[in-house]
Amino acid sequence: MTQHIDLRASQLLFNHGPGSILETTRGPVVVTHFGGLDSSIGMLTNGRMVFPREFEIIEPRLSGLLPVGIAGGPPPKLHRVPSNPEIDNQRSWILSTKEFPSWLLCRNPDHPSGNFYLFQAGSRCPICPEDDFHTAIRFVAYCRQGHLDDIRWSGAMHRGQEMCQETTYEWRETTSAMSGIEITCTSCEISMRLDELSRSIGACRGRHPQLEGRGEPPERPGCGEREIVTLRQSSVLWQSDTKRVVTIPNTDSIPILLMECLRREVNSKTSFTEILGDGEMYQSSGRITIPAGFHPDSDRSE
Ligand SMILES: [Zn+2]
Ligand SMILES: [Zn+2]
Ligand SMILES: [Zn+2]
Repeated sequence: MTQHIDLRASQLLFNHGPGSILETTRGPVVVTHFGGLDSSIGMLTNGRMVFPREFEIIEPRLSGLLPVGIAGGPPPKLHRVPSNPEIDNQRSWILSTKEFPSWLLCRNPDHPSGNFYLFQAGSRCPICPEDDFHTAIRFVAYCRQGHLDDIRWSGAMHRGQEMCQETTYEWRETTSAMSGIEITCTSCEISMRLDELSRSIGACRGRHPQLEGRGEPPERPGCGEREIVTLRQSSVLWQSDTKRVVTIPNTDSIPILLMECLRREVNSKTSFTEILGDGEMYQSSGRITIPAGFHPDSDRSE
């Protein structure tokens, strides 16, 4: 059952969850699924540690919120992703990632046109030989079934003009809005604004980049939903579903608690040494329960 990867919305996630786009010093990547963690942790620690058993988060209030699987079975548990210090290995990567998106912009300010150039990773800027100005394109495509993919730049640019096979484009940006970006084929010179292009990218092809192996080509089993262009850092790609598990009273309960515990001492102006003695007595007798008169107002708490 792959329920946990079919939907992006309403999932309890942290920002390194499978399918999330992580901005690294070497460009954006998609975190791939955690399926290999059990064997990789065993390998990296020479069998000293077992994932997920030794990385459980013991927090009954949180794990109590996890839905039990359709087939029943034992209650689900929460686990953390091991960190490098925890497994005593600073050199190896723990989580596998995949470079995404795979189209790049060359932002070399010395281009004679003064514009940027769009091309696919693995090929080169059509104008200059410099690598230092390459950045991953900030737009990606998604659908409401949870799929995420590169925009089909060539297909959208050359719709109805299939004779042109060019895959590099001039990128003229007057504003950061999609209507302020004009893309021109470097060969046939057909031109389109990004907002126009976003309406002609076609149907979603069902890609889940987080399920693909690091060096494997994209898999597109098909989907058919309408594809939508968005920024790769857009919050629509992952939506959190907030669950309240800890309630902190918003009334200041400390003065009440002190009065309840130390009423006699406060009223009779007992000396500080005596109060300390009472405290030690409380501790040694194991009195840790809150007095009956103490009621934090949980109805109006945050
Ligand atoms: Zn260039
Ligand atoms: Zn063309
Ligand atoms: Zn789709």
